[in-house]
Amino acid sequence: MTRSLRTHFTFLAAAAALTLAACGAPDAAPDGEAATPESVDAGVVNIYTARYYASDYAVYDAFTEATGIEVNYIEAGGDLLIERVRLDAERSPADIVITVDAGRLWRAEQAGLFQAAPELNDVLEGVPANLRHPDGAWFGFSTRVRGVAYAPDRVDASEITDFADLADPRWQGRICVRSSSNVYNQSHLAALINTTDVETAEAWAAGIVANLARAPQGGDTDQIRAVAAGECDLAIVNHYYVGRLKRADDPADRAVGDAVDFIMPPLAGAGSHVNISGAGLAANAPNRENAIAFLTYLLTDGQRFFPELTNEYPAVTSANYDNAVLDSFGEINADPVNVNALGENAGEAQRIFDRVGWP
Ligand code: FE
Repeated sequence: MTRSLRTHFTFLAAAAALTLAACGAPDAAPDGEAATPESVDAGVVNIYTARYYASDYAVYDAFTEATGIEVNYIEAGGDLLIERVRLDAERSPADIVITVDAGRLWRAEQAGLFQAAPELNDVLEGVPANLRHPDGAWFGFSTRVRGVAYAPDRVDASEITDFADLADPRWQGRICVRSSSNVYNQSHLAALINTTDVETAEAWAAGIVANLARAPQGGDTDQIRAVAAGECDLAIVNHYYVGRLKRADDPADRAVGDAVDFIMPPLAGAGSHVNISGAGLAANAPNRENAIAFLTYLLTDGQRFFPELTNEYPAVTSANYDNAVLDSFGEINADPVNVNALGENAGEAQRIFDRVGWP
């Protein structure tokens, strides 16, 4: 096997193969000698990830190029991924678990998937403290901001100085947003609960429901398309969906992106709602050293791939990158809440959505 080649297993095949390797089943080393479990695993890192993004594949390739360590990545949806690693327990071949949204990282931590990695303390200093688990179980490596994409010919952006403004009756029949079952909306409302209280958050959610242009449907990109098509005047979306459309190669997609402007209003005065994609060292990582090497790379040379290839912001705020569309969105004044609180408040957020009838 060539160590410079990235291996992509399908989820189940990889889980089976890696479990076998972790159990020390006999295997042939490249020179024909019987391999010990150590030599089978030397030079690899096993990443369980809920992300399917170009930036991540670029990081894997560049990391292998730089270190010779082969990356095995296993992709699955966030909840399935968590369940798989949890059920495999100490037999899990996972070295690193990566998922999207602090709410899911919170669930993964509750399921016992992570261990602290003090070797990363130096490099983690570049990541704002509120984007890391308080006890070091996981950390954000890229961030996204929930904001407002609007039609500049129909919306005066000076009327939106805070997300609270969107609950005003003046926006009746003008707002598009996806369903409340989506974790972005859950974390958004969880952040508002943290900043204010349950009553205030519930009043805001009820106001949004009263102002919807249509029943929630589709993902964030569909909300932006609806604004461009005139179905609504503004949409609540993550910033990178706007960035992706504005930087699209397809002229039709780019026209949709160009039809909207984007702002990042604060949440009840507390700053913009920032969420993360995050990673942590798996509780039973069989290749701990390689995992530390990968996580270190992720927070150093790997940072630029996120803004450049997926329009996310790097979690390391000093990281350099080239993306004029992100630059055009301006400075982020982020809500200083520790993103761990988003998971803690997610249950309360869901109960509010149910009470106000946000489908
Ligand atoms: Fe997304």
